[in-house]
Amino acid sequence: MLKLYNSFSLSKEDFVPFEKNLVKIFICGPTVYDYTHLGHARIFLTYDLLSRCLHDQGLQTDVLVNMTDINQNVFNKANENSTTYKDVAKFYAAAFADDLQSLGITSVNRLAYVSDYVSSIEHEIKKLMEQGVAYMAHGNVYLDVSQVKNYGKISQQTQTQLNLHRLDIGPGKKHQEDIMLWNCTEDFDFSWYSEFGEGIPWWHMQDTAVAFENFGKNYDIHGGARELLYPHHEAHLAQYQLLSGSETPVKSWVHVGLVLSDGEKMSKSLGNVVWVKDLVKKYGSNLIRLYIFSKHYRDDMDFSEADMLAKKPLLDLIYLTGAKVSDATHQDITNLINDIISSLQNDLDSPTALAKLEKICVEVKNGKTVNKIDFSRVCKIFGIKI
Ligand SMILES: [Zn+2]
Repeated sequence: MLKLYNSFSLSKEDFVPFEKNLVKIFICGPTVYDYTHLGHARIFLTYDLLSRCLHDQGLQTDVLVNMTDINQNVFNKANENSTTYKDVAKFYAAAFADDLQSLGITSVNRLAYVSDYVSSIEHEIKKLMEQGVAYMAHGNVYLDVSQVKNYGKISQQTQTQLNLHRLDIGPGKKHQEDIMLWNCTEDFDFSWYSEFGEGIPWWHMQDTAVAFENFGKNYDIHGGARELLYPHHEAHLAQYQLLSGSETPVKSWVHVGLVLSDGEKMSKSLGNVVWVKDLVKKYGSNLIRLYIFSKHYRDDMDFSEADMLAKKPLLDLIYLTGAKVSDATHQDITNLINDIISSLQNDLDSPTALAKLEKICVEVKNGKTVNKIDFSRVCKIFGIKI
């Protein structure tokens, strides 16, 4: 049985989806104003590996990714290029889809622009106001987090810590930690009309509406970078709990570590960004996958081209094995394949699984046999094309 580390319970848990054979996954997607970098790619590769493991076990997945197009960075880009936010979003969303495809990420089956959900957001904020858990203050709408059970649990913060983290600062808030739902007071370059006034639906509420409209009251896995834990995922969970009436509308919160570059977070201003499109052109998706999966998804990793190239001998061994498949599989190889499966079932322990794959390739090189179906199965799980 698959075990996943759940950020909500801080423990590895047996993963049992709400529906018997279908796993619904929501991944916090990109803000569509630039190309995809390796940090983003690692996130989508991780859930692709997870999806492939689930498929191998006979389960189906439904993977939804939101694309944030209501955001100041998107608006800025639109102004720079004298175009609309939607044109900017479309351009980078297409680039994102190309990057997913070039990395062999086939598991994402739904992509959603948040701007297509503004009326749902308005409707859901209205529901929260009717419940008495959201309120207006000086033109903005906020969520009263004192009404939310377990608020702070997912980011592991006490009431005092939450109070010190001042966010969405504005006049008339009931509590410092209350989350903004709709922003009417700041001047944005693009805005939407609602019954609360002209403004923009706030970040966290955008994703909540996308998930709620697509998946309904519950879904199995919420994914994204670990840095999204607070305030984004704390806020999303609070909103989802109130809208769904369930304390645990999401079974498992699965977070991926950062990809650093020269020891720092990738950013354009530091000039250390590694773009997926460049990397795929230079090394191909197979090598990128072996490199990314050589680290456990929860650990941070510092990008190094040398470390990526160090995976080349393993890739060559995999190709060699692919060329040597025969009719039967030796029992030792079958055992190693089972080890790969059980390593991945253990909270996606891909480094151990890859070590077993390497062992298979070495054994085959030394004369043991693997048949085509068994070896293809293993390659399919890792998304390696041979
Ligand atoms: Zn999100």
